[in-house]
Amino acid sequence: MKAIVNGEVFAPHPIDEGVLLIGDEGRIAAVGPAAEVSIPPRAEIIDVGGRRVIPGLVDIHIHGLLGYSCMGAEVAQVATELPRFGVTGFCATTITAPMDRVLGALAELADIIDRPPRGARILGIHIEGPHLSPRRPGMADPKLQHPLTWVEFLEMQKAARGHIRMITFAPEEQGAAELIPRLREKGVLPVLGHSDATFEQVSDWVKRLGLNHATHAFNAMRGFHHRQPGTLGAVLLYDEIVAQLIADGHHVHPGAMALLWRLKGPERTAVISDAIPYAGMSPGEYLWEGYRLILDGQTSRLEDGTLAGAVTLLNQNIMTLVKRVGVPFAEAVMAAAQTPATAIGYGDQLGRLTPGYAADIAIVEEDGQVWQTWVGGELVFSRS
Ligand SMILES: [Zn+2]
Repeated sequence: MKAIVNGEVFAPHPIDEGVLLIGDEGRIAAVGPAAEVSIPPRAEIIDVGGRRVIPGLVDIHIHGLLGYSCMGAEVAQVATELPRFGVTGFCATTITAPMDRVLGALAELADIIDRPPRGARILGIHIEGPHLSPRRPGMADPKLQHPLTWVEFLEMQKAARGHIRMITFAPEEQGAAELIPRLREKGVLPVLGHSDATFEQVSDWVKRLGLNHATHAFNAMRGFHHRQPGTLGAVLLYDEIVAQLIADGHHVHPGAMALLWRLKGPERTAVISDAIPYAGMSPGEYLWEGYRLILDGQTSRLEDGTLAGAVTLLNQNIMTLVKRVGVPFAEAVMAAAQTPATAIGYGDQLGRLTPGYAADIAIVEEDGQVWQTWVGGELVFSRS
């Protein structure tokens, strides 16, 4: 048994001088104020010096960091490095590529997922491309995009040995929307994204097919007009939809983030990084997938100034929500842990500091810097 003491424990409301007990099987055994939780005499005491104790963050949309990519075996390094940013679980997110490269990457990912390294949990694979709208591909090559089909999904899932958990695709492309309920039956979350759909199309998919998740709201989707509310208008309107948000403060204006937050709140906003493999690296110039990127620590841009992928991780993004949108810290944490974990089917195991849940924990400073990270009751990162 381990006892985390002298922390501000977010469960999810802050408990001053909180105590969190971790059982030997790596699960949370008890949480509460020091006066109410009795610490077994032989427990190992971890004094966190008044720091914040939060559930480990869950990033369901990340392409890599620190020079490592999620497009293959380097996902092992991604898993190893993520705890330094307070992330304890993630979906390895692929990028648009020719299908033979995608299938090869999926097989490599499956190998690592079946023999996971010490670090953040790899909760599955998130496919993002090449089933996007050629009109809204973002950085990806529009010429490689094609409609998602059932045959191709089965081929990818076979290569991934069943580890695909999410697919971002444009449902308006040649009837791909009809796959929404079939994907869910297979335990895969169908995700609206990189889409040029009309408001009416999305309304139909929500009501008739049960669509309930959208990739990076505002970014790479048909925008809002008061006579044509577009993909974005439907994503904002329907409570059924959990909307991912790149909360780096650059991909979405703080005013637009505030609008999303007012409509969705912490239980329907999933904070993501959408980080590219150069996230977390020093300012400078890098080459990625044929692009010359200029990193400044906050953004990655092409030479003409266009934003080219995100480079901040979730511990920083929750602080951006707090500082620039005025979101309470506890709610920002919920949107970066409980909500994404729930969206991919781990809502009863991960993302909350609740007895019975996995002891996946980040201990952070007031500015969001990570001091320690625990996965399944094991220390996987410590800043000293
Ligand atoms: Zn992405």
